[in-house]
Amino acid sequence: MRKNIVAGNWKMNNDLAETQELLSDLKAQLVKEPEAEVMVAPAFTNLYETFRALKDTPIKVAAQNMHQAENGAFTGEVSAKMLKSIGINTVILGHSERRAHFGETNEILAEKVNAALENEMRIIFCFGEELEDRKNEKHFDLVAKQLKESLYQVSKENWENIVLAYEPVWAIGTGETASPEQAQEMHAFVRKDIAEKFDDKIAQNVSILYGGSVKPANAKEIFAKEDVDGGLIGGASLKAVDFIEIVNAF
Ligand code: PGA
Repeated sequence: MRKNIVAGNWKMNNDLAETQELLSDLKAQLVKEPEAEVMVAPAFTNLYETFRALKDTPIKVAAQNMHQAENGAFTGEVSAKMLKSIGINTVILGHSERRAHFGETNEILAEKVNAALENEMRIIFCFGEELEDRKNEKHFDLVAKQLKESLYQVSKENWENIVLAYEPVWAIGTGETASPEQAQEMHAFVRKDIAEKFDDKIAQNVSILYGGSVKPANAKEIFAKEDVDGGLIGGASLKAVDFIEIVNAF
């Protein structure tokens, strides 16, 4: 059975002191046995502190990105090996902000996916269409292409380390959320695509999160949809009370 997951993507927010404050608020407010797996993804500089602070809690820690090379002359970059050496075993790949601002193509993302899996890391792979694609009714094609070109080279065995996150670009940080029906429709499409390319068991077992302006007020009805297995939360994950309310929406 697939897992329900609520992951907070803190993006480029919070210095060390702010991170420590958020961490102690999260620890104070999280229920003992949350119904969903809970994760947070701080900036690189706060990863180790976050890992240490959450070590004895159910909250897991993910990186927001990594480089595909093992090491070498890549100024400013961080490798899977470095992340693993500080206890980080999960990485978000393919976030639309990485695609839009840092030139991450489907091809580069395929390399990152391969590197993460070779290092036995778990991936939260993000994909999603822009508003223009949806207006032109190209959103299914576009999503199928993103998955095919970056993810479908993996072997069947690798799927237990893959989590998907559908994040329509027009809904990220805009306050505009996909309707629960729009999310369900895309998630069901993706599950069917995976069943066709791999097999039905893999498709049924993979968790597909929705991301894009999820907040306490809308989490419950989005998470209630059959093929929505949780959320990747940006803005609302920066306040412990909001994030925990979203976790408790399960
Ligand atoms: P948002 O961001 O919740 O602020 O829309 C989601 C994301 O980018 O993962």
